[in-house]
Amino acid sequence: MRLSQSYSNKQIDVPYLLKIGAGKLAKTGKYLSDKELKNIALFSGEGIEKIIGASFFEGLDVSGVNVLFKQTVADIDLEEIAHTAFSLSPSVEAVLGIGGGKALDFAKYAAYLLKLPYIAVPTVMSNDGFCSPSSSLTVSGKRKSVKSGIPFGVIIDLDIIKENPDMFLYSGIGDMVSKITALRDWKDAVRKGGERYNDFAALMAYNSLDILFLKHSFDIRSTEFQRSLANSLLMSGLAMEMAGSSRPASGSEHLISHALDAVCVRPKAHGIQVGVATYLCALLQGNDNLSDVKSVLSHTGFWNFIAQNPFDRKEFERALETAPSIKKEFYTILSEPDSLAKAMTFLDTDEMLQKVVR
Ligand SMILES: [Zn+2]
Repeated sequence: MRLSQSYSNKQIDVPYLLKIGAGKLAKTGKYLSDKELKNIALFSGEGIEKIIGASFFEGLDVSGVNVLFKQTVADIDLEEIAHTAFSLSPSVEAVLGIGGGKALDFAKYAAYLLKLPYIAVPTVMSNDGFCSPSSSLTVSGKRKSVKSGIPFGVIIDLDIIKENPDMFLYSGIGDMVSKITALRDWKDAVRKGGERYNDFAALMAYNSLDILFLKHSFDIRSTEFQRSLANSLLMSGLAMEMAGSSRPASGSEHLISHALDAVCVRPKAHGIQVGVATYLCALLQGNDNLSDVKSVLSHTGFWNFIAQNPFDRKEFERALETAPSIKKEFYTILSEPDSLAKAMTFLDTDEMLQKVVR
């Protein structure tokens, strides 16, 4: 019997070059040269060159890797990226992005357009975008998630991550716990019809949580915790590639975060918003893993960190009202007609929520 194509074994892209550890940045040149990538275009975030230091460029030099084009990324406008990408010298063999979100999204999409290997060098562990198959770009003035490719290489220097302010690490944690509610939304959406589940992608997403939460203490300043956070965020990105959608890593909690981006005068970091929304959505779902979410967000210090600078209750309510309509035909717990009223009740009565939404 022949299986129809949509049910045959799926092949996915995974990073071919993968280095996570201390002192990796200075070796970037060697890693590239080992893969015979000698001519690169380099896109970095603002102020990143100061953080990475001279050893990065010395390493490229010593290994005979030439930077044919270099740009500091401030904007992530799709048209500008396309213009820059197609203006690059045909001698460019690989595109390297180094920094936080914007530089990586820019470089990832430029490489995707040119069908060149893309090497991600994230300097913060604040979300799972560095190894996901999409780029968050501005399209005609609006922020959109645009299809890109999985990086050919990922290099994470834990010496750089060690210097990340707590806020970035908490954001990374918030983006990780979201798997718990996203996976439940996905399952429920399949049950309602119209969507297909992917067991392996779901398993990868669940395992990405295990790497982080079952292994050790919740001391976010320890190298082991930071290494696990990096591994988890990477696996979360790959789970999306496996699923062919963002379902394993993004559900109701991400809708609330997108809505907060739209309504808040000063939105908070992606994972900070997602983490708080995950707790609320886990309550709404009656999620079996609610106590895990609670434990992780309490013991890492995430919750106390947010409590020092809480969400504005009015803005949060407005975000809850608009969140269900953000993605058309995308079932989550927020699609249930009584969800909004229940969420408001939780904001009034739940002790944890009252500390962070005021
Ligand atoms: Zn996210």
